[in-house]
Amino acid sequence: MAISREQIEEVINKADMVSIIGEYVALEKKGNDYKGLCPFHNDNNPSLSVSPRKRCYTCFSCHATGNVITFVQNIEHISFTEALKKVANKSGVELNIKVDPMELKFNKYYKIMEEACNAYEFYLNNTDEGKGALEYLHNRHLNDDVIKRFRIGLSSGENN
Ligand code: ZN
Repeated sequence: MAISREQIEEVINKADMVSIIGEYVALEKKGNDYKGLCPFHNDNNPSLSVSPRKRCYTCFSCHATGNVITFVQNIEHISFTEALKKVANKSGVELNIKVDPMELKFNKYYKIMEEACNAYEFYLNNTDEGKGALEYLHNRHLNDDVIKRFRIGLSSGENN
């Protein structure tokens, strides 16, 4: 997945950063900038400064700094792309996300892998042969969580 630098800049430029950051932090206008309690450290004396003119925020105590997208990314603990999508949505910017042709090329193989995985998991959990295999795994101290997480399955002996 690729998003052009121009699109990221468009989102940053069109976003109303004061109202978006204002959804998380109460901001008060001070001259050209806005001040509020910094959400990135334990702040009791407003040290977060939001500058719509410079399109950035800075905390004078913990030195957190960035743009409206990284603010949403950091406060919501989401990826940059997710934050970008959120801010783009709020700002009426339609993202033109290009899917990597390599990703498209491999998608069918991922699908095949997924289906094989499902079949092996099903075989492990729903057949008599699977019961024996599960017992073996439990004896090897693999618990059900691990079996699920690593998607351990069983291939029928008949296929070999
Ligand atoms: Zn701070």
